[in-house]
Amino acid sequence: MERETLLTLLLVLFGGLALQPLAALRSWPTRENVARTRESRAWLRLWLPVIPTLVIAAWLCGWALRAPDPVRLPLGRTVIVMACAPFALVALRALLRAIGVLLRGPTDLPVCTVGLLRPRIIFSPFLARNLETRLLRAAWEHELAHARHHDPLRIWLAQIATDLQWPWPSAAKRFAVWLETLEWARDDEARSRGVAGTDLASAVVMVARYGASTTMRNGAARWEASPDAALTGAGAQSLEARISRLLLPLANEAGIPSAWYGGIAAATILVGIALAACALGVVDGSAILSPFFAWTWAV
Ligand SMILES: [Zn+2]
Repeated sequence: MERETLLTLLLVLFGGLALQPLAALRSWPTRENVARTRESRAWLRLWLPVIPTLVIAAWLCGWALRAPDPVRLPLGRTVIVMACAPFALVALRALLRAIGVLLRGPTDLPVCTVGLLRPRIIFSPFLARNLETRLLRAAWEHELAHARHHDPLRIWLAQIATDLQWPWPSAAKRFAVWLETLEWARDDEARSRGVAGTDLASAVVMVARYGASTTMRNGAARWEASPDAALTGAGAQSLEARISRLLLPLANEAGIPSAWYGGIAAATILVGIALAACALGVVDGSAILSPFFAWTWAV
């Protein structure tokens, strides 16, 4: 079998075998009060089940660098293809949904941030004319926080990670929890820039009322299929908790490092682990995979 074809099949097979059991695990609840930290932890939990798959992929790429081409696997092809099929279908579903989001038409949310690479804020002209200035500013600061953190891109990536963990409800739950904490974190960022919690709460309620025919009625489903970062967030239930939270004093964030530092540190560690896995794949990939190939040949 051609080396690249076998590499693709092994990526799907071993990646799926590593991902699916971890996706089924339920996350422990967090009691963190600071929304920024809470959002970072929810983001990490969303990605944790995917990390072993990325490490295995790096290891397999290392193996492929030294593997002969073609790889001698005369009778194992059918077995490997059939074993890959369920995981390949999950990956294909995730890919099609991700592409579908990119191809869909303009958003119908009244206030949101759109654009994966160059986020921009969309504001309904009606609301821009009719909202009081302080409510307008509150909504604007919330969306600016979304744009600052490239949240449409992060929502799109998070949706892909969740789709790769399909069909486990725990994965969908992690995504929903992260979306909720994301809104809390952006609310707090807007408030830390001088916006009153009551103003932001009023703006959210007014925009939710205005967009009731789309955002509220189809809230959860709309979010699941869209990377747009809306002012009104992820649906009526989380909106209620969010409004209550906005009426409380802002949590003290003094001494808590920026989320950017945590993100850079996590990415650096992950790249380091992936490089180490790739190097290990180069060194001992063939020796470890040989028994597997012998087994599939025997089957
Ligand atoms: Zn928002």
